[in-house]
Formats: sequence, C-alpha cells, structure tokens
Amino acid sequence: MSAVPVDHGAPLEAYGREVAGCARCRLSQGRTQVVFGAGNPHADLMFVGEAPGFHEDKQGLPFVGQAGKLLEKLLAGIGLQRSDVYIANVLKCRPPGNRDPQPDEIEACESHLFRQIDLIEPTVIATLGNFATKLLSGRPLGITRVHGQEQSTTLAGRRLLLYPLYHPAAALYTPAMLKVLESDFARIPELIGSAIPELAPDPAPELTLVATPTLPAEQLGLF
Ligand code: URA
Repeated sequence: MSAVPVDHGAPLEAYGREVAGCARCRLSQGRTQVVFGAGNPHADLMFVGEAPGFHEDKQGLPFVGQAGKLLEKLLAGIGLQRSDVYIANVLKCRPPGNRDPQPDEIEACESHLFRQIDLIEPTVIATLGNFATKLLSGRPLGITRVHGQEQSTTLAGRRLLLYPLYHPAAALYTPAMLKVLESDFARIPELIGSAIPELAPDPAPELTLVATPTLPAEQLGLF
C-alpha cells in the first residue's frame, strides 16, 4: 500500500476561513478584513511579523507595503521567493493608525498563530521585530539584544529554531540596521539545513542515540 502524503494545505485554508470571522478583540471592529497569512503551507521557513498595516488590511495579505518589498528583496538575496515561505503576523487585524499591539489583543490572537505553526510545521521561524520575538520566545529580551541568535525551542508541541530578526519596517529607514538585517538574513539557509538532530532527515546513528527532545538546548550547541 502506498503512503498517502499528509496535506497541511487544506486544513490551513479551512482554518483561515474560520479566522476570517474572528471577533475576539476590538480590532475586529475597525478592520477591512482579517489578514490571516500567506505562502507555502508546507514551508520549512516561516516569518512572523507584528500586525497588518494599511495596505495589508486593504489587500488581505501580509507584508505587501514597503516593508514587504524589502522582505522580498532579502528573500531573493538567499534564493527564495514569497511562495517558498509562509508569512504571518502576531495580530491578524490592523491596529488603528498602526499603533502597537496591546497585550489583550496579543492574548486574544495568539492561538491563531500557534494553530498556524501547528499546521505548517516549519523547522525555522524568523520573528520580525520585538512583538513576535517576545511572544514566541516567551522572554522579555528585546530584538536589539537577541537578533541573529537562533534558539532551539518547542512551539505547538514541535522542536524548531526561532531566529529573531530586526523588523524590515525599522530597517527601511536605518541603514545600519539594514546592514545587520542583511547579514542576519544571510544565515537563514544554513539554519534551515542545520543539524538539530531531531529535525535532520537522516540523522547519523550516533546522533540518533543522543538526540532526544528533552536535551537542553546548550547540549545541542545552539547557544
Ligand atoms: N508589518 C508587519 O509586521 N506585518 C505586515 O503584514 C506588514 C507590515
């Protein structure tokens, strides 16, 4: 009997339709539409930004404004396109005037993001800016402290690498930050292929022996 491949695409789409009617927080009242996320539902690499802005709210897609153009350019620099990755945000609805997400809005929305991670099963999540980084790392450390430092973590019940990056919108107007973002970005291919033993497709037998999900991250040599 031949194995039937698991299709994550259909459940993700179905979940997107469900979230389209979300009214868990006040942002549902001012939005044009929910910006669920977009890209490859099977992606190894997922990006998580902050929240939709004006253009995203109008088009229903994440990162379609200036920050999105920069993100596409950075992706092209490592040989990838939008359609190779999955892009989502911490908040699925635009905060008025693009203000910062409020803690109760993040709390109301976070299970949507965790469900997306659960369905996509990425091996690397690049968090863009402070809000995504703090939410997914569960630590209060800001992006200036932690950018470019991958950390092994468990999200939605799965071991993966979290890779904090400066937000492209911040880098747009700060050339020094753009340089750092570019050099952090250049490490992404290495991270996708990196040897977290339990993520590697064909781990060497000796690695199999030591690789259990309970190993502290330090022992995986990630910090
Ligand atoms: N900034 C974000 O964080 N997300 C978007 O979708 C667009 C801009």
